[in-house]
Amino acid sequence: MPTLKSTLAEAVSLLQATTESPLLDAELLLCHVLGKDRSYLRAWPDAELNPEQLHAYRALVNDRRQGKPIAYLTGTREFWSRDFHISPDVLIPRPDTELLIELSLALIPTNQPSRIIDLGTGSGIIAITLAAERPAIHVSATDISATALQVAKANAARHQVERIQFCQSHWFDDVPTGKFDLVVSNPPYLASDDEHRQQGDLRFEPLTALVSAQQGLSDIQTIAETARNRLENGGFLLVEHGYNQKEAAQKLFRNLGYHNVQTHHDLSGQPRVTLG
Ligand code: GLN
Repeated sequence: MPTLKSTLAEAVSLLQATTESPLLDAELLLCHVLGKDRSYLRAWPDAELNPEQLHAYRALVNDRRQGKPIAYLTGTREFWSRDFHISPDVLIPRPDTELLIELSLALIPTNQPSRIIDLGTGSGIIAITLAAERPAIHVSATDISATALQVAKANAARHQVERIQFCQSHWFDDVPTGKFDLVVSNPPYLASDDEHRQQGDLRFEPLTALVSAQQGLSDIQTIAETARNRLENGGFLLVEHGYNQKEAAQKLFRNLGYHNVQTHHDLSGQPRVTLG
């Protein structure tokens, strides 16, 4: 039977044309099939695959060649050092979104029972990470999609933060009355004609999680408008947006009466999150 090493080499050559990270992709898929981590592949290059493993692996490599995202093939993605269950019903977590977490944590005092809401929670990464990092806070999370909420609830159970209150809602529409110290969201913000949509993982992700009307700004506007009546005095709104939406987001926040409006940059130096 083929060894891990020869199987990986074959997959890398097959994936070369489809992905910028053929070796990483080949390794992640093999780890998934074997139920092992990457250090195992390094430690046992001459171990052999059994016929079922080989068959399953070749099918996954073939799916990857069609462009299917690794996170949907393996059903998981790491975010803020935790593994999240991911399905094609939810957006794949991006490292960019860790900036939202960093800023949120800086705004949430430790040991105080602040109230936080994550709008459009998808897989739940934001709500769950904040709840796990700040055990004293009350966390609510919404999504318009019932299937996304199922994924988020499974992730909350996986990370033992069952105290999160989930609510199926279009932004604040069906959120029970009450005010929040922090409203956080990574809403859909791509314009419908954004050419990136035809590239990479975006082709396979739910459209409702990605695209928004008015050049990608419509949902950010709705959130900023409705959050005004749901924020405590001195509360904060934190919204992720596109690298080219800094001016528009700031203008929108200021016109709605938000103070101390600032935009923060992600690791690649792009404007990514606006705070008010
Ligand atoms: N909140 C989720 C995330 O950050 C989903 C965001 C979305 O679907 N637009 O990944």
